Amino acid sequence: MTRWLAEYAWLPEHAEPTPDVLIEAEGGRITAVTPLVGRGAPTAGIEVLVDAVRLPGLTLPGLANAHSHAFHRALRGRTHGGRGDFWSWRDVMYSVASRLDPDSYLALARAAYAEMALAGITCVGEFHYLHHGPDGKPYADPNAMSAALVEAAGHAGIRLTLLDTAYLTASVDGAPLAGPQRRFGDGDALRWAERVSGFTPADAHARVGAAIHSVRAVPAEQLATVAGWADRQGLPLHVHLSEQPAENDACRAVHGCTPTRLLADHGVLGRHTTAVHATHPTGADISLLGENRTGICLCPTTERDLADGIGPAHRMAEAGSPLSLGSDSHAVVDLFEEARAVELDERLRTRKRGHFTPAELVTAATVGGHAALGWGDAGRLSVGDRADLVTVRLDSARTAGVPPVGAFFAATAADVTHVVVDGRTVVEDGRHLTVDVPTELRHAIEEVTGQ
Ligand SMILES: [Zn+2]
Repeated sequence: MTRWLAEYAWLPEHAEPTPDVLIEAEGGRITAVTPLVGRGAPTAGIEVLVDAVRLPGLTLPGLANAHSHAFHRALRGRTHGGRGDFWSWRDVMYSVASRLDPDSYLALARAAYAEMALAGITCVGEFHYLHHGPDGKPYADPNAMSAALVEAAGHAGIRLTLLDTAYLTASVDGAPLAGPQRRFGDGDALRWAERVSGFTPADAHARVGAAIHSVRAVPAEQLATVAGWADRQGLPLHVHLSEQPAENDACRAVHGCTPTRLLADHGVLGRHTTAVHATHPTGADISLLGENRTGICLCPTTERDLADGIGPAHRMAEAGSPLSLGSDSHAVVDLFEEARAVELDERLRTRKRGHFTPAELVTAATVGGHAALGWGDAGRLSVGDRADLVTVRLDSARTAGVPPVGAFFAATAADVTHVVVDGRTVVEDGRHLTVDVPTELRHAIEEVTGQ
């Protein structure tokens, strides 16, 4: 039995944090959540509090990063000053992708995931398409790169949903993969499914899900193969959707409809599906996504970095799509920043304030993300859920004087002091207990960039 005494805790369905909450866990699960104020002493007596770990500040459920490409961490600060757009950025990204092998991928992902742990992220969805050797030839173990990611998350102390991504073509009209893209491809969706079916994560911290890279990368007639594989096994299915207007234009030119419509017609949408970005949907797309209860993963810091645009987050939420958040390219790894950006971007677009309540932003960052990644028992401080705790200090230069309900508009990842994943402490006093994060990041990035 482990006990924590949170100065404030954000409990499920609460509009704001609750003071003085005793949280108890055993076997990695929360066994009791007891607000002490107004209830007198806890029934077990004062000794219950003596051995409780004090958590000064605001304690949240675990944050879920629903969209990650771990290797993009190596690009931080190397492209942001440049001109161009998404497509010119992608060329630089491909040059890093071409240098990775299972060993260097393990080192880079381990450091990137440990940075996430420091930021309070207890679960990550890795949208993984670097499957094969640089020339497209499978490794001796065709899932060696997947295994590296699972191992990396284990070292970093966080859970992982490996969203194994079908990436078969270079464009909507079916052009074959070429150059650095060759290592992404399995040939066709059946061979993709065969490879993924042969992979079982070595440890309970990781699960497999499926992904369709985009309508650019999976031919229309093969979409149902990927969706059916995920559906039969009850696994989450993710897909990049309408990140770029050019993707919409190409889809209309080839298929005569929007990417959302194409996905709907091939059985891809639904409550187990998460559309990533959805930055440029039409009004009809928004209705379709909402009616199907398709989730939307917003990645505002990446969308701003790549000049992609601002997605209609509030309209999509109102239409019925649950929201989650992702750091995607890892230009920033800070879910506080992602969460408030969802609201602040809406303000810029509409010149009105107050689209999302703080509790709605917390939901997107916690239970929404976990649900999108297939962990329906995480993301809430409630009995029976996984014992994930993230404590944010309220006495830093950024957060001093801020009421706990305002923490998501003031805190940064650097204000996270304590992180517990499945009942195990991973970060203490702002320090990762097993990974020297800055040193490992530096070495891993030098290895894959050559500088
Ligand atoms: Zn992405």
